[in-house]
Amino acid sequence: MAVILLSGGLDSAVNLALVAKEKSENHLAITIDYLQKAREREIFFAKELADFYGVDWQVISLPWLGEKSGSALNRSEVNLPKFEINELDDKEKTKQSMSQVWVPNRNGIFIQIAAMLAESKGMKEVYVGFNKEEASTFPDNSAEFLDACNRALSYSTLNRVELKSLTIDMNKSEIVRKGLESHLPFEKVWSCYTGEQERCWQCESCMRTVRALLSQQDLGKATLAKMGWTK
Ligand SMILES: [Zn+2]
Repeated sequence: MAVILLSGGLDSAVNLALVAKEKSENHLAITIDYLQKAREREIFFAKELADFYGVDWQVISLPWLGEKSGSALNRSEVNLPKFEINELDDKEKTKQSMSQVWVPNRNGIFIQIAAMLAESKGMKEVYVGFNKEEASTFPDNSAEFLDACNRALSYSTLNRVELKSLTIDMNKSEIVRKGLESHLPFEKVWSCYTGEQERCWQCESCMRTVRALLSQQDLGKATLAKMGWTK
């Protein structure tokens, strides 16, 4: 049994798909509402995904996190950085973008909450959607951070909850391929930073998904079309 941190985005959706497929036990997926711009869409699609995989699901509300955050993910007056595909490997651009969307200690807080829930329910594992592609700009997405979390959890939980990520060694193309192989319903995946009705296809997260799916030729293009991409 495991707790899965499920934003409804690509990486967490693939972790959910793999955990639900490999272990047919009772799992709990949690989605955190921290007043992010995409909260309504993320909550809607995370529930769709949890229902699809027959996993229990709940929302944890952390309004104070959003209220204190100066991130473009939260603040309506701060615009989200826009990306072209050929800018995704531009170190300066991604570093600047990271500082705009950064929410102080967000992943650290989410992991500790998930670990608390896991211990209280007698569960020993927490899954997160880390990936290699973004770990170079987001330090809280890295294997080093996962190891550090596990060291802390060996003290902060009595049953030694373990943090795991099945996508940590994968870039987005590999994650997308894993999702396609697992028949992940991509139309239920919401990676977009905005809270619009349709995906923006301009934010960094949308563009990483586009690039990854385009690398999968016709199947990737057909999947993008199902998600509303029209280019
Ligand atoms: Zn977007």
